[in-house]
Amino acid sequence: MSTQYLKVTSKNVLLPSGDPQPATITVDRTSGKIVSIDLCYLGEDAGKHQPNIEVIDAGEKHVLPGLVDTHVHLNEPGRTDWEGFWTGTRAAVSGGITTVVDMPLNSIPPTTTVENLEIKRKVAKGQCWTDIAFWGGVIPGNQKDLKPLISCGVKGFKCFMIESGVEEFPCVSERDLLDHMKEIEVRESNQLSLPELTRRLSMSQLSSRPHHSADPTLYETYLASRPEDMEVNAIQLITRLQENTHRSASALGAIRAAKEKGLKLTVETCFHYLSLSANSIPNGQPEFKCCPPIRNESNRDQLWKALLDGDIDCVVSDHSPCVVELKKVEEGDLMGAWGGINSLGLGLSLLWTEGRKPDRGATLSQIVDWMSKRTAEHAGLDAVKGSLAVGLDGDFVVSKEQMHFKNKLSAYEGLVLRGVVQQTFLRGHLVYDRSRGGFDGLTPTGKLL
Ligand SMILES: [Zn+2]
Repeated sequence: MSTQYLKVTSKNVLLPSGDPQPATITVDRTSGKIVSIDLCYLGEDAGKHQPNIEVIDAGEKHVLPGLVDTHVHLNEPGRTDWEGFWTGTRAAVSGGITTVVDMPLNSIPPTTTVENLEIKRKVAKGQCWTDIAFWGGVIPGNQKDLKPLISCGVKGFKCFMIESGVEEFPCVSERDLLDHMKEIEVRESNQLSLPELTRRLSMSQLSSRPHHSADPTLYETYLASRPEDMEVNAIQLITRLQENTHRSASALGAIRAAKEKGLKLTVETCFHYLSLSANSIPNGQPEFKCCPPIRNESNRDQLWKALLDGDIDCVVSDHSPCVVELKKVEEGDLMGAWGGINSLGLGLSLLWTEGRKPDRGATLSQIVDWMSKRTAEHAGLDAVKGSLAVGLDGDFVVSKEQMHFKNKLSAYEGLVLRGVVQQTFLRGHLVYDRSRGGFDGLTPTGKLL
């Protein structure tokens, strides 16, 4: 039987106002909400003589808001052998993520109708260690499904302008998109979220490039097949559509121009673009294949600068695994392999490690903003998630700045990372505890948002 109140007290609590500071947070487990925050460290005394309070004395350890990853492919049902609600959300809480927003594709069915959304929700129930929300999908001909999907709680929409990689989620043309946007006439909180857009025009340029003869095991071959102008064209298209309908990296120039015009554009990048670069990617290793590709060191430096300058708003995983055979690891075939990198739950350590280097100079507060506050805003979840504040969900992470090795996931194999999650709490309930091997004796308490 858990007590009604949970108090977590630490000398390093990351509140919305800036640097880590001493504080004590009280969560009412019945409502799951933060009910008070005292700006002092109480140590073991926090719950003295009060039998209905459990106290977590985190001491010097950091207490951070639960992270919100808004770009995750959980793939269930249909491709559960790639990833599923149970395994994916366990990986997420182990890295301090308390809310996952699932992408509409790679599951069968994709989230393109209310009926399909209900199928996914039914499967997700009881399996989730984090809270889960859903993006809807825009495909040719599903204009009429968009408003009902919004009514049923999807947080926005995703589409592709080149082949998505799976046949049940076809790409749309600029014309299709215009129709869809007119249909939902998005002005209020439901922005159309259209990352990863790429134009058909770029696609035809691409197919005329002479890469067929090039060695498919060379990273350079893959890099050359996905030129940067594809990203630029995609961003220009989306900003053009926004201007027509009133409203969501060297792609950075196009982004800055759009933001200067006051267009409502949320820009995300991923952990792998910030922590890896093409220069250090070995040939014959499709583990590093994702789309757009990880580019050179100077591209990575520019992404960091854009992030620190506020031109990029948030950082997400785009966690998109597949079964080993499709990754073509044995053949080393970069051109033929599924594009997607596994990093769910690694993000905090990756950014903490890279961002805290003197030449990057990111603060912990900035890192958590990119991974929690901004992503919560992007998915319209900021009234409940994204910060440690009274009235919000009692989702938080107890973590330590110690070094540790990661070796399970091949793209990050052997990397020494800084920052490790010790415990994760969802609405005041412990959902991950490193000291007891992760999940021993715990149950999944995630809700569908
Ligand atoms: Zn994705």
